[in-house]
Amino acid sequence: KPLLIGVTGGIGSGKSTVCRIFQAMGVPVYYADDRGKFLMSNDEGLIQEIKKEFGEESYDENGALNREYLAKTVFADTDRLKVLNSFVHPAVARDFETWVNINSDHPYLLKEAALLYEIGSYKELDKTICVMAPKKVRIERVLLRDIQRKKEQVEQIMSKQTDDATRRNLADYQVSNKGDLLLIPQVLNIHEELLNSVS
Ligand code: ATP
Repeated sequence: KPLLIGVTGGIGSGKSTVCRIFQAMGVPVYYADDRGKFLMSNDEGLIQEIKKEFGEESYDENGALNREYLAKTVFADTDRLKVLNSFVHPAVARDFETWVNINSDHPYLLKEAALLYEIGSYKELDKTICVMAPKKVRIERVLLRDIQRKKEQVEQIMSKQTDDATRRNLADYQVSNKGDLLLIPQVLNIHEELLNSVS
């Protein structure tokens, strides 16, 4: 059975960038947040749960998810958000399990998620990698990447995420992505350590 390794970090830290380097070396990566969005539009059981709880208007006449409506519905109401998450998280967990079984011939697999420590799902993983960069750098990178986003929005998302000290304590490996160290050598080091730990 492969080792399951979480990759996390705050918004704009470079999680996806780091995962793409692992992927280029042949390591399979499960992008949990993207997959959650995909399942909300494609998993029939999940779609039914969402419609029942949040109304038929959660999907348009073509069956596409009405993201704007749903975001508005759960935005200011953490209880409603918790309900939505209580549907989405188990669906992602089931999907992840299937994905792990399909990829079971690899020594280790990566799961990328913005919230690993926050929702406790890191406890089901063998190890975690945390990507770190100062907030200022992360804000600059996100604003460059997402032209529609505002600085205040990025700061608001950051304020809801785990702080760096907590991440540092919980992570087994850290990747520094503030620009002082190159990413590829850091990823190679972790890759070798992980391979050594399974052999
Ligand atoms: P999110 O939480 O929003 O999904 P993320 O942690 O996955 O973000 P990335 O998308 O990997 O972060 O990186 C954020 C942006 O910063 C991207 O546009 C990426 O290309 C850029 N970036 C990442 N690392 C570096 C770097 N070392 N130097 C310059 N730009 C970088």
